[in-house]
Amino acid sequence: MPELPEVEALTDYLRERAVGRRVDRLEVAAISALKTYDPAPTAAAGRTVTDARRHGKFLDVVLDGELHLVVHLARAGWLHYREAFPSAAPLRPGKGPIALRVRLDDGSGFDLTEAGTQKSLAVYLVTDPAAVPGVARLGPDALAADAATFAERMRSRKGQVKGVLTDQTVLAGVGNAYSDEILHAAKLSPFALTNRLTDDQLATLHAATREVLGDAVRRSVGQKAAELKGEKRSGLKVHARTGQPCPVCGETVREVSFADSSLQYCATCQTGGKPLADRRLSRLVR
Ligand SMILES: [Zn+2]
Repeated sequence: MPELPEVEALTDYLRERAVGRRVDRLEVAAISALKTYDPAPTAAAGRTVTDARRHGKFLDVVLDGELHLVVHLARAGWLHYREAFPSAAPLRPGKGPIALRVRLDDGSGFDLTEAGTQKSLAVYLVTDPAAVPGVARLGPDALAADAATFAERMRSRKGQVKGVLTDQTVLAGVGNAYSDEILHAAKLSPFALTNRLTDDQLATLHAATREVLGDAVRRSVGQKAAELKGEKRSGLKVHARTGQPCPVCGETVREVSFADSSLQYCATCQTGGKPLADRRLSRLVR
């Protein structure tokens, strides 16, 4: 799932490539992806891309400074910039991976795609990004938050630190992958409770958040949109690395179920060598 660093890089890429270009046509192939109907998709035509912004994990393409194409890429969505399109024929609604296409006046443009059968990519055409419920609910940006704001936000919600760190209403931008990386860098158990974190632990967690996200943004920005996913994977130390050695201590990276997915961690670095109990598994066994 694209998180803050990937969306930041896509935003940066669009700012470089698309700003100043006029929209020829906005084509919707996956009707279910478009969550708004007023203004209609035809309202985008003839408008100039004036900016690209990021709100948490949302991408915001600004048209004439007054219309916003707000995109949430969800789990399997991506933005592919095309220097040219193979055909001028409009997209036909169907079951293909392309949800939406934006054609620009120089023949280039971009496709929003979504792999798999579970479709949750969401696109909103609005006059104010705050009209998008997910954007309106966002907490402060995880990368921009200062130490005091970060600590205050983390303490505002009592729960396991992994869940609180990925709660977009607490802090915006961190998802499953980077939270694993941040907690590993901070040497914290993903199951540690936020109300029991010391000031020092919160300061370390804040520093780790800035370091992990900042590094990922630096690696990603300037890359072509198509190369970003590989770049993300190459920088990960524990996430999606179950069974491989921890690059810090050499111990084997472990996995445990969390929410409706799983998380990866290093027991030596994060939990005093004690493996975390898999609650879902123990529930099944009992
Ligand atoms: Zn380790």
